[in-house]
Amino acid sequence: YRSGLEELKGKENITSDGRSVDIFANIGSASDARLALREDAGGIGLFRSEFLYLGRGEPPSEEEQYEIYKEVFSCMAGKKVVIRTLDIGADKQVDYLGLKTEENPAMGFRAIRLCLSDPELLRTQLRAIYRAAVYGNAAVMFPMIISEVEIRQVKKLAGEVRESLLREGRAVGEVEIGIMIETPAAALISDILAGEVDFFSIGTNDLTQYTLAIDRQNEALEPFYDPHHEAVLRLIRMTVENAHRAGIWAGICGELAADTSLTEAFLDMEVDELSVSVSSVLEVRRAVRAIGQKGEAG
Ligand code: PEP
Ligand code: MG
Repeated sequence: YRSGLEELKGKENITSDGRSVDIFANIGSASDARLALREDAGGIGLFRSEFLYLGRGEPPSEEEQYEIYKEVFSCMAGKKVVIRTLDIGADKQVDYLGLKTEENPAMGFRAIRLCLSDPELLRTQLRAIYRAAVYGNAAVMFPMIISEVEIRQVKKLAGEVRESLLREGRAVGEVEIGIMIETPAAALISDILAGEVDFFSIGTNDLTQYTLAIDRQNEALEPFYDPHHEAVLRLIRMTVENAHRAGIWAGICGELAADTSLTEAFLDMEVDELSVSVSSVLEVRRAVRAIGQKGEAG
């Protein structure tokens, strides 16, 4: 099944009519980064940092996180690495966060909402990221954003973290700041949000869930969960257009990024980056390189 994929390593993600796109990988650990590199991913478009917080008695310390991020940045050797800050809620068992059981955790006290009400969590994570950024091409993004106010708050926190590290005489690296676009609210005001950040990464898993009002975890609803729904595709297109109008880049990091039946549509929308599971990197490269090869005019 993988035949022909190996030979795509080292090749560009370019269509026969000369359009190109970055193909990055989604990871959940430092060892995944090595696998991503082996599959010739152009970078890491989504490091789901919540995995560092699961299955333990206390949150990972700054030092612990620093070592892990440093390992990933160093491993990727100058290729971009986007770390997503803690995206967790009552759907996960994390006793030390003291989360109350919720009837509707997908729409509950989670992700950026949780982090902004417990800023120490975010501060520790940002300190580790700024310090580790010395070793690579670092970016951070915030999940479940719905407003400009939230972005201002996280940027203020990031600025304070950077300042205090410098005051302590620590080395800090450059860190691009972006947000996930995974709520219809964020997509609909992406023209406003674009002025506040360096990039957008579209989370189509949640964007589909919230746009269609269909629980992505409920297996009984699977036949209805349609990420190809025109409403979802319009929100993606709108988000990319608004990003480009503001001069920032926009990628897709949800499962849809690996859906090769949409690769051409994403290139037509001028999506800058597709971040996919490690095992899909070369398949998406193949799909990109096949575009325009059917002999159509123009
Ligand atoms: C998404 O929502 O599309 C996404 C990439 O984040 P997660 O799947 O971790 O919610
Ligand atoms: Mg999500």
